[in-house]
Amino acid sequence: MKWETVIGLEVHAELSTKSKIFCGCTTDFGGKPNTHVCPVCSGMPGTLPRLNRAVVEYAMRAGLVLNCTITQKCKFDRKNYFYPDLPKAYQVSQLYAPICRDGFMEIESGGHKKRIGIREIHMEEDAGKLLHDPQSGTTHMDFNRCGVPLLEIVSQPDFKSGTEALSYLEQLRETLLYLGVCDCKMQEGSLRADVNLSVRPVGGEMGVRTEMKNLNSFKAISRAIEYEASRQIEVLEKGGKIVQETRRWDDDKGESYGMRSKENAQDYRYFPEPDLLPIEIDDEWLARIRETLPELANQKRERYIRDYGLTEFDAAVLTGHKNISDLFEDVLKRSGEPLESAHLITGEIMRLMNGTNTPPEELSPDPGKLANLVSLVLSGKINRNAYKETVEAVFTGDVDPEAYIAEKGLIMVSDSGAIHNAVAKVLNDNPGAVSDYRAGKDRAFGFLMGQSMKMLNGTGDPGMLRKTLKETLDNQANL
Ligand code: ADP
Ligand code: MG
Ligand code: ZN
Repeated sequence: MKWETVIGLEVHAELSTKSKIFCGCTTDFGGKPNTHVCPVCSGMPGTLPRLNRAVVEYAMRAGLVLNCTITQKCKFDRKNYFYPDLPKAYQVSQLYAPICRDGFMEIESGGHKKRIGIREIHMEEDAGKLLHDPQSGTTHMDFNRCGVPLLEIVSQPDFKSGTEALSYLEQLRETLLYLGVCDCKMQEGSLRADVNLSVRPVGGEMGVRTEMKNLNSFKAISRAIEYEASRQIEVLEKGGKIVQETRRWDDDKGESYGMRSKENAQDYRYFPEPDLLPIEIDDEWLARIRETLPELANQKRERYIRDYGLTEFDAAVLTGHKNISDLFEDVLKRSGEPLESAHLITGEIMRLMNGTNTPPEELSPDPGKLANLVSLVLSGKINRNAYKETVEAVFTGDVDPEAYIAEKGLIMVSDSGAIHNAVAKVLNDNPGAVSDYRAGKDRAFGFLMGQSMKMLNGTGDPGMLRKTLKETLDNQANL
């Protein structure tokens, strides 16, 4: 029998608003335990929540770019359960009227495009963290994360493979980053995904699904999917049944195990949140948010190709991360040179990032200094060697380009006297290479060129140098 995998994703994104969803505490990651808390988010009796308007706006932004319908009359619901990381013993979430519905995202996977349905996006609050200390056998509670705003983005079961799921997650991550609503640091848990997975005979009825919770790296997600699909197929092929359950993925062991099944799943006793008013989003508010939506990566890619004549490859590199396209656009704005600015980033800057293991999140060279260098190389004040060297010095040491160039003597030598002298000396010192050249060995020319450039400290005007060298060799031959 041929099997087919069916996957649906529930993604939790922590919003990067300054303050929490129902109080003024900071949303900063980390911090000393229980220092980002107040009576509201630590669940003191008698306190009342006050909704952070920015959370609603971030949700609207995400919903609009993900092609959702915005629920203009939406409200919060209370999800009740007891767990020590949840001091109120309920989570404020949305069940009956989530803020966004019926959207989609277009993904690319294996060379073709596919539309993934987004069933809904709802707003909710995050819970705290438990820290288990095996030594003393105690558990500590840190409420700093309580009340950090979350969006839960629920897809339709539209994925057929781990590759499709990853392609969606990568694009969703990129979109949220460009929107500026989430920092998407998976290692800090700002973006995490629950994977729902079932298998069925190709084209057959939907199978029973299991759910793996809170996977926080792309690698773990893809391994968990592979493992779970083959586990389910194996169970079914042996005549067994899949039970609907939550499973925990152990990334170290590379396997998952059942935690709780649907039969003893808890009843959350959802009801409308009595302490918060319903939210009314009027047309004017919605229009205002729509107007402030930024250009997204795919729109940027198209514009770069259309307006600047960049290749598809370069445009893709430049939009691979928001910080990279921001840097490109900043250098371009200051230098007015699209191609040179683009190639600076796709060439030298990418090389330096790789060489120094600098992730895009930490990309920070001064765009003004880079723009200055672009002008210097284009106007012929420095040659390509000097340009590369100075770009590196700006990247690693934030030096002042003009001062660096002066100090290192990198100004380009285009003085014909100096170039003639250097060439004459090199030809004089290397009779062997000169006769090789005459014997038709092209490599000898490259060698003589390199020696002459060296004689000029690497700062010669390469065009002039090449011309002078060629002319001198040919003239001598004619003597
Ligand atoms: P719950 O309320 O228990 O979380 P939902 O119906 O909200 O369940 O679905 C949660 C996720 O599971 C959604 O992303 C949905 O696409 C996915 N899903 C639903 N049914 C299946 C199935 N048979 N196989 C795989 N994924 C599924
Ligand atoms: Mg769910
Ligand atoms: Zn608080």
